Amino acid sequence: MKNDSKYQVDDKGYYGQFGGAYIPEMLHRNIEELQLRYLEIIYDETFQKEFQSLLKDYVGRPTPLYFAKRISDHFNTNIYLKREDLCHTGAHKINNTVGQILLAKRLGKTRIIAETGAGQHGVATATVCALMGMPCIVYMGEVDIERQSANVKRMKMLGAEVRPATSGSKTLKDATNEAMRDWIANPVDTHYIIGSVVGPHPFPDMVARFQSVISEEIKKQLLEKTGNENPNFVVACVGGGSNAAGAYYHFLDNEDVKIVAVEAAGHGVNSGKSAATTILGKPGVLHGSKTLFMQTEDGQVVEPHSISAGLDYPGIGPVHANLFESKRGIFLSATDDESLQAAMLLSKLEGIIPALETAHAIAVIDRIGAKKDDVVVVNLSGRGDKDLDTYVRELNL
Ligand SMILES: *Cc1c(COP(=O)(O)O)cnc(C)c1O
Repeated sequence: MKNDSKYQVDDKGYYGQFGGAYIPEMLHRNIEELQLRYLEIIYDETFQKEFQSLLKDYVGRPTPLYFAKRISDHFNTNIYLKREDLCHTGAHKINNTVGQILLAKRLGKTRIIAETGAGQHGVATATVCALMGMPCIVYMGEVDIERQSANVKRMKMLGAEVRPATSGSKTLKDATNEAMRDWIANPVDTHYIIGSVVGPHPFPDMVARFQSVISEEIKKQLLEKTGNENPNFVVACVGGGSNAAGAYYHFLDNEDVKIVAVEAAGHGVNSGKSAATTILGKPGVLHGSKTLFMQTEDGQVVEPHSISAGLDYPGIGPVHANLFESKRGIFLSATDDESLQAAMLLSKLEGIIPALETAHAIAVIDRIGAKKDDVVVVNLSGRGDKDLDTYVRELNL
């Protein structure tokens, strides 16, 4: 199950100049074990059987590919929405956590840890731990615990322990540091379920493979609906980049398919309150891999800002850094305000309230240059229930 694409990971764990595994000595054994075994484990027949069966009956796959007529008319093109918002727990994240918990079992691990920002990955992890009867500890910044109390309650109801990260800005990057520290202290019995295509090799590649079911389904569904398995555009929002990596995966080598990545511009890319990594970032090592991230002259992480917690991350995964540098991907950004308006538009025209993250992808459709006969697939990464308070407040509903 090697992949020879120049846009996929190479033998050494790199995407072009990005990727690798920059980790403390204490984690070498864990990471090396994963690097050596992950492909053999996840492409084993019994693993695939269990994974596919859970994706179908527990997650609710395949998710529909919906031709959205009214918003297509609005933008004068043909828009298909890949409905990841209909997955169990409300977003694509569960595709990855189901895969990783099955992997953890096969590695003989008995304890799961995770980091979370908005709480979506924490909920998806707590969910699969309940499903498998495994103890689950989720690290979350103290500030985020306050901002995202509904998800904290969900995690507790699912039996997870939520541990506050009290250092630094008390948000996602601090929670990630705490989770790393835990893993270093408990390398034998614990698996760390990383929530996006970030972290040391092989996490970015492994998470992308678990999410690649999204583009696998899009191809089949488009062929059925249009007679052509390839769209003109695939559009997805990028926080760390896991829903995007899954939506692009099987299209990367077909350069006729334009890959559009949408970052969060926050208050505007030059406002000092933004998360548009490819515009504002530089290469460096963040959370175990070499990638692009927002940093000061001396390499300190710059605090990002986005109205959507899932895009409020200072970096992007190495696969995306390489898509940007090689120009295979078209990188755009949408501001907080543009995304709020896009969420309103989709709600009114299609009866679908998207997650704020997803709304960023909707917000750029009129800027990609799609023609009347073009086919545009937008990955609808999640549903908007979690964002209702923000919508009500910001849109004066
Ligand atoms: C977490 C999240 C994202 C951002 O994460 P990626 O790894 O970039 O996909 C996007 N959309 C939703 C709905 C999310 O919950």
